[in-house]
Amino acid sequence: MFDHVLLFTIAAGAALWILLGLQARLRLTRAKHPSLQGHAAIARRIARIMPFYEYGGEKLFACDGAPEEVARQRKTDFERLGAHFSDRAPKTLAAGKAIESGVSDASFVNAHRVPFQFRSEVRRTFPLTNLVDASHGNRVRDLDGNWSYDLSGSYGVNVFGHELYKQCLERGFERAQPLGPVLGAYHPVVNDNVERLRRLSGLDEVSFHMSGTEAVMQAVRLARYHTNRPRIVRFAGAYHGWWDGVQVGIGSQRRATDVYTLRDMHPASLKVLQTRRDIAAVLVSPLQTLHPNRAAPGDATLVSGRDGTGGHDRDRYARWLHQLRSVCSERGIALIMDEVFSGFRLAAGGAQEYFGVAADLVTYGKSLGGGLPVGVLCGTHHFMKRYRDDRPMDVCFARGTFNSHPYVMTCMNEFLRHLESPAVASSYEQLHPLWDRRTATLNRALEERDLPIRLANVGSLLTVHYLAPSRYNWMFQFYLRAHELSLSWTGTGRLIMSHDYTEADFAAVSDRFLAAAEKMRHAGWWWHPPKWSDRANRRQILREMLAARLGGYRTLDASGNAVTGRVR
Ligand code: PMP
Repeated sequence: MFDHVLLFTIAAGAALWILLGLQARLRLTRAKHPSLQGHAAIARRIARIMPFYEYGGEKLFACDGAPEEVARQRKTDFERLGAHFSDRAPKTLAAGKAIESGVSDASFVNAHRVPFQFRSEVRRTFPLTNLVDASHGNRVRDLDGNWSYDLSGSYGVNVFGHELYKQCLERGFERAQPLGPVLGAYHPVVNDNVERLRRLSGLDEVSFHMSGTEAVMQAVRLARYHTNRPRIVRFAGAYHGWWDGVQVGIGSQRRATDVYTLRDMHPASLKVLQTRRDIAAVLVSPLQTLHPNRAAPGDATLVSGRDGTGGHDRDRYARWLHQLRSVCSERGIALIMDEVFSGFRLAAGGAQEYFGVAADLVTYGKSLGGGLPVGVLCGTHHFMKRYRDDRPMDVCFARGTFNSHPYVMTCMNEFLRHLESPAVASSYEQLHPLWDRRTATLNRALEERDLPIRLANVGSLLTVHYLAPSRYNWMFQFYLRAHELSLSWTGTGRLIMSHDYTEADFAAVSDRFLAAAEKMRHAGWWWHPPKWSDRANRRQILREMLAARLGGYRTLDASGNAVTGRVR
């Protein structure tokens, strides 16, 4: 009898344990975004089996079934643009070619400017490179002496304009010169930096690192150390640097079981945070307000339209951050605000100030170095402490040869002083109305001309949306470049504007933008079959991929027929 009771109790306990496990699993599944961004493991598997194929010959200009006349128009303009780039910048292109063979990143970037189906022909015709040797105001110069407006924003570093960073570097170097690159000891300017960073972040302590990626690594490590929990939560689409502890899915080979990628702005994710006991930290990149659950839009994946609706809603995102804040406080989870990009761009106090939410740990980088490489972590005393008084060997180890480099510290100090100057502090009051108005004005002009492009923005960060379900929207980046607007390699997904753009500068950029769009329309790239949609595009591409996988072809011949061969 006793045996039976014991057995029954064990079986009931095991059943309950399994049920609870299943329930937790189900909760996690519900909190995943129904896209590849939300499913890292599936995305990696798909990336492995995705076949390479490309459009050859005439198909390059008519993969959407465009009539001959439209395809001819496209081809003529494609060749005209190619000749324009080659004639305009022969020296730059030759130097770029040399770089590409020796710098793996240059080769990677050049291979990922457009969707892969068009890659070879585009690279042959537009051998583009981003080589520049001077900047002045908001323009940059290539090796052939051509000046372009810089819309690339130096990956977000350039908040205040190149001239400001040149000044920070010059003054900062002068101040650090007597010491030189002595490492390990602190330059006395560190104290002033810490005071300013405390004021800015509202937090107690600071640690210095060499990149935004490293600042994030340290934040995550400290959160695990203090909570004694293994897992962290990030949201679908968000970028937190290239460390494979947070960069999971396509691009990283690690099967990360210690990271949950959950759905941004969704109650199912809150439920996971409310119920699990293994979560050390939630990582938030506030830029996701512009495109929740999606990666920063890049032209290499622009195979159709790009969502022209929605856009950023400050109040809605602020409400979401408040919900996260409150569940993190309840459950002892560290809220890490990754302000590597948003710090100093959305407000002097970054997204914390802009959305009115206080984090436990905040990462900064980019602009803060005054033009030099940097990563900074600010946090509460509780989360920043790296050892325990009662357990002498239980420490959280983090170093870095170049952390607190004297030149970086003095340049940072120049930057922070500039940030806190009354003129800059008051310019932030106008920042959002100013860029909202500029974006709206350009959108109105696009609408009046019936051009299928719109811009969305959060402050000075702009993104281009494409309304036409065209297979060729990625071509717009080349029209912009031909109109002397310089973009980063990801193309039109992110136009990162510096705050030194005057009304006249922005008007000049807008004129070029409109002229580029008119040219693109004139060349027929926005033609699409009647009653066509983004969905129809995606379906067609899926069919092509399946055919490539099953049929074993990698190239379509001049008339668009599959040429058999092995799939690469
Ligand atoms: N976090 C965010 C939000 C970023 O935008 C970036 C850089 N784009 C990083 C982290 C990584 O910074 P870094 O490139 O300096 O390593």
